[in-house]
Amino acid sequence: MAEVVSNPQSATANDTLEEKKAETTDGFHLVIDALKLNDIHTIFGLVGIPITDLARLAQAEGMRFIGFRHEQHAGNAAAIAGYMTKKPGICLTVSAPGFLNGLTALANATTNCFPMILISGSSEREIVDLQQGDYEEMDQLNAAKPYAKAAYRVLHAEDIGVGIARAIRAAVSGRPGGVYLDLPAKLLAQTIDAVKAQQSLIKVVDAAPSQLPAPDSVKRAIDVLKGAKRPLILLGKGAAYAQADAEIRAFVEKSGIPYLPMSMAKGLLPDTHEQSASAARSFVLQEADVVVLIGARLNWLLSHGKGKTWGAAPKKFVQIDISPTEIDSNVAIAAPVIGDIGSCVSALLTEIQSGGFTKPSVEWTGAITERKSKNLAKMAATLEQNPSPMNFHSALRAIRDVLKTRPDINVVNEGANTLDYARSIIDMYEPRKRFDSGTWGIMGIGMGFAIGAAVTSGKPVVAIEGDSAFGFSGMELETICRYDLPVVTIVFNNNGVYRGTDVNPTGGKDVAPTVFVKGARYDKMIEAFGGVGFNAETPAQLTKALLEGIASGKPTLINAVIDEAAGTESGRLTNLNPQSAAMKK
Ligand code: ADP
Repeated sequence: MAEVVSNPQSATANDTLEEKKAETTDGFHLVIDALKLNDIHTIFGLVGIPITDLARLAQAEGMRFIGFRHEQHAGNAAAIAGYMTKKPGICLTVSAPGFLNGLTALANATTNCFPMILISGSSEREIVDLQQGDYEEMDQLNAAKPYAKAAYRVLHAEDIGVGIARAIRAAVSGRPGGVYLDLPAKLLAQTIDAVKAQQSLIKVVDAAPSQLPAPDSVKRAIDVLKGAKRPLILLGKGAAYAQADAEIRAFVEKSGIPYLPMSMAKGLLPDTHEQSASAARSFVLQEADVVVLIGARLNWLLSHGKGKTWGAAPKKFVQIDISPTEIDSNVAIAAPVIGDIGSCVSALLTEIQSGGFTKPSVEWTGAITERKSKNLAKMAATLEQNPSPMNFHSALRAIRDVLKTRPDINVVNEGANTLDYARSIIDMYEPRKRFDSGTWGIMGIGMGFAIGAAVTSGKPVVAIEGDSAFGFSGMELETICRYDLPVVTIVFNNNGVYRGTDVNPTGGKDVAPTVFVKGARYDKMIEAFGGVGFNAETPAQLTKALLEGIASGKPTLINAVIDEAAGTESGRLTNLNPQSAAMKK
C-alpha cells in the first residue's frame, strides 16, 4: 500500500496543513503499489538517475530488487522469469544508454514470445521533444516501439495504475511479448492525493484469458490427422510456456504420434520418452506426411518448413497457435487451430478419444525406433571416447550423467558448438527447465537467464557456456555472488570463438579474429567475488567439480579445458556464414 508521505518537520504546523500532507503519496510509491497489487514482487534492474529511489522504495516495501552490472542481463533475467511464470518479468533501467542496453533484452523477449515489461526512467518530455539537450536525452518511447509488442508512457501520477495494467495485459495476453513503459523523472516525484491514488490502481482481472478454438477448426485438424500415414508432433517453446503439460502429454500418449521437441520444449515430456523422435530428427522431418505444430513457428530453426530438411514427401501441417497471423507465414497450413494451447490440445484430445482415430502404424513407429537405436548407438560410441584434452562430447557426457540424477535443475545453454552438442546430449526430464539462445540463436543470454531462473525457481542452475558466449555476460558473476545464488557456470574453454587454432595469416602481432587468450582461467574470475572456482581437465574432474558445486549451492565456476582444435566454424550454422573464397583455401 502507498506509504503516506509526511514531513516530520511539520509536526508543529496547523492541523489542516498536516492532514493535507498526510494524505498525499507520489509516483514512486504508486508504481510499487500497482506492481504489488498485481502480484509482482521482483524487479531486475540497474539503478541510477532517475530510478534509484524507485529501487530503494521497492525493497523497503517488501519487493525483491536484484541489481545487475549491465541492463541487458537484467532484461534477460526478467524475460526468462516471465517465460517460467506466465507473469511479466520486470526490468528497471535508467534513461538513454541504460534503456538502450535493456532494449536488446526487450527485443529478444518479444522475438521469443516471453512476457516482460521494461520500465525505464526518462528525461523531461518538454526538453526531449524540443531536442534542447537534456541529461541523457532520448525519445525512448519511439525508440522502443519497433522492438516491443506495445509501448506506453505515463505523464500523470493518477494514470500509473492504468499504465501498469495495460503493460501487464499487453505482455501476457495473446502472443506474449515485451512491453515498454516510459516513466519520466517528473512523474515519479509527482505528489497526488493518497485516496485518489489508491482508487486509480487496477488489479488486472484475467490478464491472459483462455482462447477456445473454433469447433470447425478442430474438426478440420482431426480430419487431416485421420488421413495421416506418418504423423509427427512438433512441440515448441510456446507449448512449454502454456503450462498445459498434462494435456500435451495426454494428447501425445493417447494419439501415439511420435514427437520432436524444439530445444526449449525439451523436458515437456522426458527426453527418454519412447515416443520421442529426437534421435531420428532428420528422418522424421523428411518422412512425415502430417506435422502437428504445437507452439512452434516454421522459422529458420525449422528451415521454414521446406527444402532438404523436410524431404521429398509432401507435407500437410496442422498448426496450433494463439496468433492467427502466424499461420501461412512460411508454407501453407492445411489446418490452423487458433487458441491457447491448453484449450486447443484438450479439444483435439476429446475428438481423438471419441472414436474413429487410429494410432500410427507400426511400420512408421517401428522405422523411427530402428533409426533411433542406430543413431543412439553411434552417439554412445562417440561419447565413450576419452580424448585428452577433453572434447565437447567427453565433457558433455560427464555433465549429462550428473544432471540425470537432478531433473529439477535448471539448465542454461549458449554458445556455438557448446549449444549444438549440449542440446542433443543433455536430456531434460521436466518442463521449462532449459533456457537457451532461442529464436534468434544469440549469445549473451547466459548469466541473465541463469540469475532469472535461480531467483524465480529457488532451484539450482547449471549454465553450460561456450567461452565466447560467456564473455557477453561474465561480469554478472559478481551479481551471482552478491545474491549468493546456486548457479554453477561451466565454461567450455577452447581458447576462442568456435575454436582457438586460427592464425593471423600476415604473421603480425595481433591474433586471429576468432582467438582469445590461451589457457585463460575463467575459474579465477569467480574467486575474485568470493565464489568457488574449479579447473577441470578431465571428465572425472568435471564430474567432481559439478557435483560439489551443486551440493554446496554456492556460486561456482568450472573452467572446462577443451581441445582448442575441437569445434566447427559457426557450430551447425556453417551454411549461414558466408565465407570468402580465399579463406576457404
Ligand atoms: P520454438 O522456437 O520452440 O519453435 P517459437 O518461439 O518459434 O517456438 O514458437 C512459439 C509459438 O507459440 C509462437 O508462435 C506463439 O504465438 C505461440 N504461443 C505462445 N504462447 C502460446 C499459448 N499460450 N497458446 C498458444 N500458442 C502460444
